[in-house]
Amino acid sequence: MEQAAIGEALGLSRIWLGMLQLAQMSVEETEAAELIALSLSLGINTFDCAREYGGHSILAKVMEDSEVLGARKIVIVDKSRARSYEDIETAVAESLVELNQEQIDIYMLHDVRGKEDFELRAGAWKYLLEAREMGLVHAVGISTHTVEGVKLAAEVDGLDIVQAPFNEAGIGILDGDTGEMERAFELAKVRGKMTCAFKVFGGGALFRRWKEALRFVLKHRCVDFVCIGATTIAEVKAIVTLLNQPEANLFVGSGLRQQVMIADWCIECGMCIQACPSGALAFDGETLWVDESKCTLCSACVAACLEEAIFIVHLEQ
Ligand code: SF4
Ligand code: SF4
Repeated sequence: MEQAAIGEALGLSRIWLGMLQLAQMSVEETEAAELIALSLSLGINTFDCAREYGGHSILAKVMEDSEVLGARKIVIVDKSRARSYEDIETAVAESLVELNQEQIDIYMLHDVRGKEDFELRAGAWKYLLEAREMGLVHAVGISTHTVEGVKLAAEVDGLDIVQAPFNEAGIGILDGDTGEMERAFELAKVRGKMTCAFKVFGGGALFRRWKEALRFVLKHRCVDFVCIGATTIAEVKAIVTLLNQPEANLFVGSGLRQQVMIADWCIECGMCIQACPSGALAFDGETLWVDESKCTLCSACVAACLEEAIFIVHLEQ
């Protein structure tokens, strides 16, 4: 099947809701489920997970609630950092159980750094292709933080979709800038792949100009889908309004508090500590922590982290 036809068959919404922030923040499952239900009612039906993020239990809860779900179908995107055939086989099986599904709509190799990394994960990729044949997943792809990764994805036979960071400031792109990523996405489109942009708000760094940041990504025809990391009802409503009325004069900010958050998979490399101009980050014994009294929310730490383990989130006050 052609990749565009696969996207149509799955009924993917243009905006995807990323589960990273929701699952990593200590938001009550009920609250997170409410956000997902609201997103669904506003036309966002695609939810982007990863084994490392967590969040399967929240989605499973919503999918079990026939009142919330109604006639709508939730589309699940999942991914894993597994490298071998056996490890990703286990990861897919665990996801199917946790989500209580017979098929995962899209499954990706998570965070493929480039050609060499992809070759090292040949076993995992082989399994994903077989899983698609067996009907355990519907479509397969890779997520990457590099221009090289997107160019590679463009050339891989049988790959349906590639996901990469894309924003006007180039935040999160490890080996190039916005223009290079745009050209790589264009190449992927020419080769018939579906494309999804993430980090459209630069991990929170572009939140103050969120409308411009979102409009920038939406205007690119080489981007099929846009994954956002909204954590509040106000954000989801504003984003959907902007999608439907591009010139809408919206304001999101009052009533929201920003905060730096560190994810479970921080490897304690210390790069963010070096990058922080305010001395707001430090190791306390073995844990990285943020001194909120010093943090100016400048986002230098977000840009410095190669693990995508630190970002700025928004909380209702
Ligand atoms: S740069 Fe990222 S991985 Fe390294 S210590 Fe900071 S948050 Fe953790
Ligand atoms: S947002 Fe800026 S001030 Fe706050 S911890 Fe990160 S680098 Fe430091």
